[in-house]
Amino acid sequence: MLEIQIGENNPVLRKKAGRIKKISAEIKRLALDMVQMIESEPDDIGLAAPQVNQSLCLIVVQPDKSKKALVLINPEIKKFSTKKEIMPEGCLSLPNIIVPVERPFKITAQALDLEGNEVKIKAKGLLARVIQHEVDHLHGVLIVDYK
Ligand code: ZN
Repeated sequence: MLEIQIGENNPVLRKKAGRIKKISAEIKRLALDMVQMIESEPDDIGLAAPQVNQSLCLIVVQPDKSKKALVLINPEIKKFSTKKEIMPEGCLSLPNIIVPVERPFKITAQALDLEGNEVKIKAKGLLARVIQHEVDHLHGVLIVDYK
C-alpha cells in the first residue's frame, strides 16, 4: 500500500532520488502500484516515487486522463524551449497549496520504459509541464521553491 508523503520539509521529498540500475520485480511492482494510484484519482496527473517514500528515479504521468499513464524510469530532460509559460500548479504532497510556476513550454526528455527500452519524448503544454514537475521531485525540488 502506497502512502503519500506530505510536507515541504519531509526528508524523502527533499533528497535527490537514486538512479535505478536494474528494473527488478520490485521496481515493476512499485511502478504498477503508482500507475494504479494515479489512474484511480481523477485529479492526479503525475506522481514521483519519492512521493510514495521510495527515493528512486521513477515517475508516472497521466496528463490526459482518457489515456493510460506513462511510466518513465531515470527520466532526464535534455532540451528546453526558450518559450515559457506560467501556470498554477498543485502537488499531492502539498495539499491546499497552489503556486504559479513558470516553465519551458516544450521539452525533450529521455527515459527508460518498464522493459528497459530507451524512450525519447517530445512534449509540450501540460505533458511537458507535468514531466518537469515530476522530474523536479527527483531532485528534491517542490513547487513552493518557485515562490
Ligand atoms: Zn508534486
